[in-house]
Amino acid sequence: MSVAPPTSVTLDDRFARDLAEMAVPWQAEEAPDPRLLVLNESLATELRFDPAWLRSSDGLRLLVGNAVPSGATPVAQAYAGHQFGGFVPRLGDGRALLLGELVDVSGRVRDLHLKGSGRTPFARGGDGLAAVGPMLREYVVSEAMHALGIPTTRSLAVVATGRPVRRETLLPGAVLARVASSHLRVGSFQYARATGDVDLLRRLADHAITRHHPGAAESERPHLALFEAVVAAQASLVARWMLVGFVHGVMNTDNMTISGETIDYGPCAFMDAFDPATVYSSIDHGGRYAYGNQPVVAEWNLARLAEALLPLLHDDPEQAVALAVESLGAFRRQYDDAWSTGMRVKLGLPDGLDDAVASPLVDELLAQLQESHVDHTSFFRVLAAAARGDAEPARNLFLDLAAFDGWLQRWRALGPDADAMDRVNPVYIPRNHLVEEALAAATEGDLAPLDGLLDAMTTPFDERPGLERYATPAPKDFGEYRTFCGT
Ligand code: AMP
Ligand code: MG
Repeated sequence: MSVAPPTSVTLDDRFARDLAEMAVPWQAEEAPDPRLLVLNESLATELRFDPAWLRSSDGLRLLVGNAVPSGATPVAQAYAGHQFGGFVPRLGDGRALLLGELVDVSGRVRDLHLKGSGRTPFARGGDGLAAVGPMLREYVVSEAMHALGIPTTRSLAVVATGRPVRRETLLPGAVLARVASSHLRVGSFQYARATGDVDLLRRLADHAITRHHPGAAESERPHLALFEAVVAAQASLVARWMLVGFVHGVMNTDNMTISGETIDYGPCAFMDAFDPATVYSSIDHGGRYAYGNQPVVAEWNLARLAEALLPLLHDDPEQAVALAVESLGAFRRQYDDAWSTGMRVKLGLPDGLDDAVASPLVDELLAQLQESHVDHTSFFRVLAAAARGDAEPARNLFLDLAAFDGWLQRWRALGPDADAMDRVNPVYIPRNHLVEEALAAATEGDLAPLDGLLDAMTTPFDERPGLERYATPAPKDFGEYRTFCGT
């Protein structure tokens, strides 16, 4: 049954029409008893939905995919991917649907997508479902990333379905309504390439250019320019992750976008004590996707994108490879620039400071943070206090005080700007113990901790009285944190 929302919202099916070979028309499973857990009202308005209508029973039926506007063509998207280094030629949306594209109030095209909406032809052994906890985790963390100014898919709503999901125990099921500038992934290109259909690959690349990197169309080599635009977007994105201590957890090529938005929040978390070896995923035994490996993994994934694009880069395979290698070479430079500029801002250092001064200062600080197991997020806020004259809270965090005092003296001599630091160093991030607390309570039906957490996350840089617990590192007994993906 189709019910048209009483607003001007229409869902386009551009992806399904342009790239029919990669889109399987499909329907969501019926949710027996949809109940709204959380709705992102400001995002709803941005998308020209009436939030009150989305809360209605018809609105909820849209948010679980059971009533789509007439003219829409929900599809499961096909994609491939390297998962922990091994190539899988056919992954696709096993439990997700692209409902369609809509145009937001600023005229931007956005995907409306559901996760946890039932089995699709790509489900393999999976049940196609999602539990309340992991869908709320994606909602909280993606919205926190957005508030931090980091490109990301957004979360519109989480609706409990009324259908239990079998995991280690029976859990309440839910559907996440996700919004993205698109769901084109590195793995989408790998899929098109693996079919051997160069026309499909070209249509996909042209679709991506139109949608994300229109400037590439003006270039002498549009498909190489597309690749370079993705390299630049990912170099900037991963630098942003590193600067806030974000660990994605599953940087498989199917979880890396062409738009440069963060996507697929599974076993992700913000690092507590600074340590490049930090891993949160319970399935990442080798530490492939550890915090400190993320830039190298991004570069590796982009090399896989380059391989997929080769037939479009040049008729001569050797020249195609030479072009791709040269363009990929920009990644390290762009990443290093973005990261070192970002670190200088975090430390409040003046513009134009000589690299020979800034670089060793940053390196020595990171070594000391690691040595003393210092909480990454709160450190930069207490350091701003030190710039204002109160160094004791920062000094208290270090084991080798003489070394830190030496560093502090050199840093203070550069005249750090405390206000500039506070504008980029968050007070509030979704700390692991708070996320767990909120998800556990929501799974039991108590949404208050979730609401409190979301409220704190919306203004990450502005310290507010009464929110101290959201700014405090986990209690020591919280232990080694692990999250689980594919749930
Ligand atoms: P992810 O690790 O969430 O990026 O998912 C990797 C692949 O597994 C994608 O093809 C997903 O659609 C699929 N998948 C994950 N969980 C399920 C599930 N419960 N049922 C069906 N497919 C799933
Ligand atoms: Mg994924």
